[in-house]
Amino acid sequence: MIVPGNINKYAKKDPEEILRENLFKKFGKRFLDYRKRYEENVNKKSSEIDQLDYPNTILLELVNRCDLECKMCYQGFRNDAKKSVLDEKILDKIFLDFKKNKLNSLMFSASEPLLYKKIGSVFKRAKEADIMDIFLFSNGTLLNEANSRMILESSLTRLFISIDAATEDTYNKVRVPVSKRLLDQKRLEKLENNIKNFIHLRDNIYKKSLPLVRTSFVALEKNKHEIDLFIEKWKNIVDSVEIQKKVIPHSAFEEAEKANFKDDSKISKNYDCKEPWGQMTIWSDGTVSPCCATFGRNIPIGNVEKNSISELWSSKNISSIRDSFKENSPNSVCKTCIDNTVDHISN
Ligand code: SF4
Repeated sequence: MIVPGNINKYAKKDPEEILRENLFKKFGKRFLDYRKRYEENVNKKSSEIDQLDYPNTILLELVNRCDLECKMCYQGFRNDAKKSVLDEKILDKIFLDFKKNKLNSLMFSASEPLLYKKIGSVFKRAKEADIMDIFLFSNGTLLNEANSRMILESSLTRLFISIDAATEDTYNKVRVPVSKRLLDQKRLEKLENNIKNFIHLRDNIYKKSLPLVRTSFVALEKNKHEIDLFIEKWKNIVDSVEIQKKVIPHSAFEEAEKANFKDDSKISKNYDCKEPWGQMTIWSDGTVSPCCATFGRNIPIGNVEKNSISELWSSKNISSIRDSFKENSPNSVCKTCIDNTVDHISN
């Protein structure tokens, strides 16, 4: 899992300014309020944050599958888990809810969203629900011409692509394909060309400035020697480049799950997490967790099949998680999550 913070950013122009230029025109003050709330979540302690009536951001996992098994990501290790796909009835229900409550921001994330067969129809739902800021987090392997055009014809505002390497060799070591026959097929070159083609289409054919394109790099022992090369490669091509240095190694998930999150160690530092004040994740089986972390799946607050998002957002389950941070008495899952956040990992 990638943890916010400890991120170095490189951008030709402030991405926030580009978003404001485009989205303020379309949504007016509603957009400014959304960004203000986001800034508050980033800069304040959880005890200083006012409770919103509805999450600022929802993360949505459409299908629990990925075509890569990356070294730093726990998602890949769920590829042998029972397949779950968010069904149409749930999509109808949640997008109605998003529209009614004017959801500000939606992130297609968690696993690989482009593996969801009807992704184009989900983008349409997001547009119809009038969601302002729509993110697609992808590994980019399926960013072919057809998918690029589909994205450019949607109302997506940000396309975030994880690459984590500047050479084929390192790409093969870090971003390992599920299908091993792909290892010698110049996957990085193909991905880089697809991203460049996407930007060409956006700038010259569709003549748009959104979605913003970000390429990112999670620094690990296996790839950290390529950080500078990666920045040089992308800084004049995409809208922003991010180098992320904090992760939770997947060995931590495995150990914690094996021990059933039992943790008798004393609280000896301040445990704070602001995630449950800003967002929730809806997983592909309808389960809802209070944050974007894979660890968060172990503290489910309910399921959208049974409850509305507003009910879950003000439920006892999520309130007790928020209170635990105010009182510095985190449950064992949150404690383990925070204790295992480290700078870099080695595999
Ligand atoms: S598991 Fe707990 S500590 Fe970790 S991100 Fe989620 S709410 Fe925060």
